[in-house]
Amino acid sequence: MNPFVLGVDLDGVCGDFTEAFKHVVADELGVPVESLPTNRSWGFDEWGLAPDTLGELLRTAAVKHRMLAKMEPIVGAVESLWRLSDAGVWIRIVTHRLYVNWSHAVVVADTVAWLDRVQIPYRDICFLGAKPDVACDCYIDDAPHNVKALRASGNQVICFGQPYNTDIAQPRMDSWDEVEDYVLHLAANGGHQVQIQLPGFPVHVDRLASVQRPDPS
Ligand SMILES: [Mg+2]
Repeated sequence: MNPFVLGVDLDGVCGDFTEAFKHVVADELGVPVESLPTNRSWGFDEWGLAPDTLGELLRTAAVKHRMLAKMEPIVGAVESLWRLSDAGVWIRIVTHRLYVNWSHAVVVADTVAWLDRVQIPYRDICFLGAKPDVACDCYIDDAPHNVKALRASGNQVICFGQPYNTDIAQPRMDSWDEVEDYVLHLAANGGHQVQIQLPGFPVHVDRLASVQRPDPS
């Protein structure tokens, strides 16, 4: 067996981080949600937050609001990851959520609880401080600095399209349908065994239901 390993980032790729964080910031600062544009830069410049405030709000979002356990999945991510996994692709979750000094216990517990709740399949998971290479055949990430660093060290990286990465070179994809197709072809062309599901078969995303953890709220 020589599985094709796909390194999958969570925030901004599988989970709608901007939308979830927007509600936390609106609540904490007492401002309307509509005043925080979705079309934002990586540093949230459009939200008018000082660097210290941003750091504190990110910590508050994780620890007080338990945002990492609650965010909505990005459209198509769950279904595509099941199809890729069923085709034989090894799903490796690669998250750099430990890059700040949040409670690691909360971050790790809420992350795996979230993966179970939204039914994302994975074989293993890496919690990283920085974002080094973790031996994947291909990565998918949305953070401009991660995409650039991984590509600079010779890795195959799909940039998942977000407003803050429009200047990143191809491959850059806005939908999980595109990602799924691209990864399957990459795996097949690289000599890996992939079994593409026949069209018309439903994707069962409820196979993790028996291991669901309680909602932390
Ligand atoms: Mg990300």
